[in-house]
Amino acid sequence: MGAYKTKAREEILTYLKNHKEQRLTAKEIYEAVSKEKEGINRTTIYRNLDKLCETGELLRFKEPNQEAWYYQYSTGHANCREHIHAQCSQCGKVFHLDKPFVDTFALKVSAEYGLDMDPAKTIIVGICKKCKRK
Ligand SMILES: [Zn+2]
Ligand SMILES: [Zn+2]
Repeated sequence: MGAYKTKAREEILTYLKNHKEQRLTAKEIYEAVSKEKEGINRTTIYRNLDKLCETGELLRFKEPNQEAWYYQYSTGHANCREHIHAQCSQCGKVFHLDKPFVDTFALKVSAEYGLDMDPAKTIIVGICKKCKRK
C-alpha cells in the first residue's frame, strides 16, 4: 500500500513536470495519469495532489468565476508557501514573488488594514511581458 501510494505521487509529479507551463485541473491530471497507469483511482490522485501542495511541490490556483482548482508544477521552489505568486491570465506562467519588497508590501497591508495575507493562497493576476507583445 505504501509503495503504491508513492507510485501515484511519482506519476503525478512526472506528469506535471512534463507539462510545467500548463495549468491543469485535478480531473485532467486524473485522466492523463490513469491512462498511463491502470488502477490508480481518483481518490488517490486527489489525495496526492493535496499532499504535494502542502509540501510545496505543486502550486494550486483558483481562478475567479471558476469552480475548479488548477495545479501546476513548482519549479525548484521549496518555500512556495511562504511567498506570494503572480500568474499570467493568458498563458498561465507563474511568477514566484520572493523578493524582499513583496514582504514589505505584506507587512504594510497588515499594518494599514489589519489583514494578514496568506501567501499560499494569494495570487496576483496579470498579463506577462510575452503575452503583452502579442
Ligand atoms: Zn513559489
Ligand atoms: Zn503570459
